[in-house]
Amino acid sequence: MRIISGLHLTTFFLILVLCSCANTYAGNLVRTIEEFDTAIATLEPGDEVILANGTWTDVELKFKAEGMPDKPIQLKAEEPGKVFITGQSNLRISGSYLVVSGLVFKDGYTPTSEVISFRTSKNDLANNSRVTNTVIDRFSNPERHDTDTWVAIYGKNNQFDHNTMIGKGNRGVTLAVRLNTEASLENNHVIEYNYFGPREILGSNGGETLRIGTSHYSREYSNTVVRNNYFDRTNGELEIISSKSCGNVFRGNVFFESQGTLTMRHGHHTLVENNYFLGNRKPNTGGIRIINEYQTVKNNYLYGLTGHRFRSALVIMNGVSNSPINRYNQVVDSEMNNNIVIDSDNIQLAAGSDEERSATPIGSSMSNNVIMSKSNLNPFTVYDDISGISFEGNVLNEEADVPIEKGFSKAPYSVTENEHGLRVPAQSLIDQIGFGEVKLPVAKEETGADFYPHVYKVVTPQSGGTRSVAAGTNTIVEALENSKPGDTLLLENGGEYLLTKYAAIRHPVTIKSESGDKAVVRSEKSSFFLIENGGTLDLENLWIDGAESPDQAGNSVISTSKYSMNRNYSLAIRDCRVTNLDVNHSFDFLKVYKNTFADSIEISNTEMSNITGSILSLDKETEDLGIYNVENLSIEASTFTDVQGSVANIYRGGTDESTFGPIVVVKGSEFTNTGMGARNKSEASLKFHGVQKLHISNSEWNQSAPLELHLTNGEPITAIRDIVMKDTGEIRANNDEYKIENATYK
Ligand code: CA
Repeated sequence: MRIISGLHLTTFFLILVLCSCANTYAGNLVRTIEEFDTAIATLEPGDEVILANGTWTDVELKFKAEGMPDKPIQLKAEEPGKVFITGQSNLRISGSYLVVSGLVFKDGYTPTSEVISFRTSKNDLANNSRVTNTVIDRFSNPERHDTDTWVAIYGKNNQFDHNTMIGKGNRGVTLAVRLNTEASLENNHVIEYNYFGPREILGSNGGETLRIGTSHYSREYSNTVVRNNYFDRTNGELEIISSKSCGNVFRGNVFFESQGTLTMRHGHHTLVENNYFLGNRKPNTGGIRIINEYQTVKNNYLYGLTGHRFRSALVIMNGVSNSPINRYNQVVDSEMNNNIVIDSDNIQLAAGSDEERSATPIGSSMSNNVIMSKSNLNPFTVYDDISGISFEGNVLNEEADVPIEKGFSKAPYSVTENEHGLRVPAQSLIDQIGFGEVKLPVAKEETGADFYPHVYKVVTPQSGGTRSVAAGTNTIVEALENSKPGDTLLLENGGEYLLTKYAAIRHPVTIKSESGDKAVVRSEKSSFFLIENGGTLDLENLWIDGAESPDQAGNSVISTSKYSMNRNYSLAIRDCRVTNLDVNHSFDFLKVYKNTFADSIEISNTEMSNITGSILSLDKETEDLGIYNVENLSIEASTFTDVQGSVANIYRGGTDESTFGPIVVVKGSEFTNTGMGARNKSEASLKFHGVQKLHISNSEWNQSAPLELHLTNGEPITAIRDIVMKDTGEIRANNDEYKIENATYK
């Protein structure tokens, strides 16, 4: 009796508690982290915790609970998209049958190494759980090379869908599936309908958008399915997706103008089918790269991909014999069949062949692919023995050549736009390979959080309004403070402008005078312009003069932030004159700091003279980790006279192969008495170390320090033509793997 009445009492008490819970929480609406923690402690299957609308700052949300298959426990926003998690914040979940939805992470970054983690400790993992309709927008650590992961999926049977991830600026994978314990293997996760928005070039390894596994667990099965996701300009690095485990499926994803490739970096038995790569002829856009065993690549559509080498449209790699787990496994029994490749430049076989990577592909096939392009009439590059790849039924347009004897036929170039706006070959060819309808498997609008726009506005210079700036002292500084992104500050022709304060560039802005007499700008500070995080600067038709600069060593005209920048900047100098940077020694034109990165630097139609420092010293990443300071540099139709330092000094060290740049063009320019100063440690007028593409043409050196080349790994392309060197030393290079034609020494 006592026992029974005890049970009765307990039941009664439980009912009371449940009633009071229902009342207290009214659906468990919580307004503070304390209320959240209290609510989490008492959750039952079927419960909800609702975060109140508003901004939650500096909160570490730990959602640990046990739901049931038919009664999941939900953590949701009061209204989707109206709960903002900001500051030093993150979310960890563990248990089972949990659903998270409606949150927006912005204006901050995680204090730990993950923003959303499917575990609360090493052994407390989430299983059968879901994160959906959630946003992470530029929630990036300000330290560019501090690594974190935005979303890390552990456990098994989890789903990550309809989420929006935009603009990761610091190093580290956007979304990672982790296999680091037994409890996360053979996980069967589903990653679908997510919108991966633009990610800037990182200028280093570690900019992957999606990684599944790591080399250490790469011979384990993950069995993760990645389908119907939209990758929109996810640049980062060479690997958009790095599959590093077995049994994964990539189906029906769209890659829009994304630099890099879907890489089967480690692991076997991967299926890559019905994915659409739309390069639209943008630089460094790539397709699919096969490494390892039993990989199947079929029915993919690849358009307008310009990448070469490891970022070609289709790549089959060479491997390393008895490869260590972290190197390149030989390609064995793999297929690359029934794909359509249109207006793309490169297909590379036995790629990466070198002394170490000497194991050629075996037991593999390349069949029934339709390849049509006039942009490169020799699209195939064969680096080694490909007798282990069988070729059958491939079709090439008749203008193109292929160095493979069997398995290719020719057809007229028959590419037209179909009803879905995609460039397709003749229907007979599509039918011949059984491709089916050529149509995007998912539209951008079907992906991502439903409340969040897919527009990630990249503001370009001169896209905003124009503000006239009167000549005088600090009028530029005031105008900058009042400017909006994309604005142009229009200076008076011939007007004199003095800066007694730093001119801070915090967003894209143009400072110019109309063609005619240049406005002249002088500064009393150690630097004229400071490019802060988010800043981008164009200077046009200005005269920059150092006559008022302080009498101290180390001045500069333009400086980046001294601190790490997690957003890339660009700099353009057009039709300018730069004089008298000589009040003291080491007066540079541009001074950059570590952990900063320029998407592009352009100097055109500009004269620079009488400078005691260097023009562009982009050599601040010296640890040989493959990190560098600039992606694209161009110097065009410009003259440099009496420059004691180097005009350009670019350094990218190490043996990393996961980046695209630096890419440098020098043309139509003159270098007179440049690089000869005793403080110029490079002893070069132009020094390029580890540059990946270098084109120098139609330029002249007079009484200058030599040009120095240090060619490193990555098969750099170096072409020099039509140059004249007067009283200037010969080109110094560490090897002769560069092209030079029509060079005259006088
Ligand atoms: Ca990588």
